[in-house]
Amino acid sequence: MKISEIFYSIQGEGILNGVPSAFVRTTGCNLRCVFCDSPQTSWVPEGINFSIEDIVAKTNPFETNHVVITGGEPFLQPELVELCSKYKELGYHVTVETAGTLFQNVQCDLLSISPKLSNSTPQLRENGKYKLRHDEIRLQPDIVRKLMDMAEYQLKFVIDSPADTKEVHDFLKSLGKFEKSKVLLMPQGITREDLEKKSHWLVDLCKVEGFRFCPRLHIDLYGNTPGT
Ligand code: SF4
Repeated sequence: MKISEIFYSIQGEGILNGVPSAFVRTTGCNLRCVFCDSPQTSWVPEGINFSIEDIVAKTNPFETNHVVITGGEPFLQPELVELCSKYKELGYHVTVETAGTLFQNVQCDLLSISPKLSNSTPQLRENGKYKLRHDEIRLQPDIVRKLMDMAEYQLKFVIDSPADTKEVHDFLKSLGKFEKSKVLLMPQGITREDLEKKSHWLVDLCKVEGFRFCPRLHIDLYGNTPGT
């Protein structure tokens, strides 16, 4: 399995915010978000192949039974099913983080699905080379629906401006049914300053809309630093 990094930290986003967790970051992504906070897995993918046994052996010493498989896009990895099953067999709580554009039948405790809005589109980067493809595949309501039916889920949207909420509503509508308490809005930003500026209006917006506000604790604590 192609891995960018394996490390021990706390979950910084979502309903398990603050839980000490082992992170397994896969490399490779089918999207190219302009604000990607792990470009070493998407824009310039780097990593090496690990066997399932090696991955588990690396996370085993960490003082936690929570593992987060993240990316990149973990659903691109053919060994994802086996890795999740192995961790479940060992008694771990397994979270898989995904943009929700690909499906595999995995065993996990939480799917953290982050469908990408138009604010993620790389309009100009690399002369707009990825724009069209990114826009064609970034929202896949049928796949997100299947993922939500497969496991416990949270839906996490990255919000850059108040106008983005219309796209959130449109996408949620396309899913048919969903639980509002599982919808989280997270400010776009990879610096503390960016997050602080956007958090104030986003909290107010969450109060009006009834969605949950999602801080990015790891950026507040460590900045956007790999391995933290
Ligand atoms: S889906 Fe995630 S990993 Fe892929 S480009 Fe977007 S932010 Fe980066």
